[in-house]
Amino acid sequence: MKPKIHPEYKEITVICSCGNKFKTKSVLGRELHVEVCSNCHPFYTGKQKVMDTAGRVEKFRQRYGKATAGPQVAKGAAGKGA
Ligand SMILES: [Zn+2]
Repeated sequence: MKPKIHPEYKEITVICSCGNKFKTKSVLGRELHVEVCSNCHPFYTGKQKVMDTAGRVEKFRQRYGKATAGPQVAKGAAGKGA
């Protein structure tokens, strides 16, 4: 690699909104603040964390719920020669 054209790839501290901190490598050069980490993400904690302000999720379901019930899938690939 040529010198002085590549950003510095060094260790930084990532700080999560849950209070968790961990180190990673980045070219960012400063602390990184994140909202979720592997420690508090719903996937890992098993807890549901839905930010449903003003019932947007419910409105979406009412509007598009029927449309997603049964989309017609084209069966053009049917009849492959045995
Ligand atoms: Zn976290």
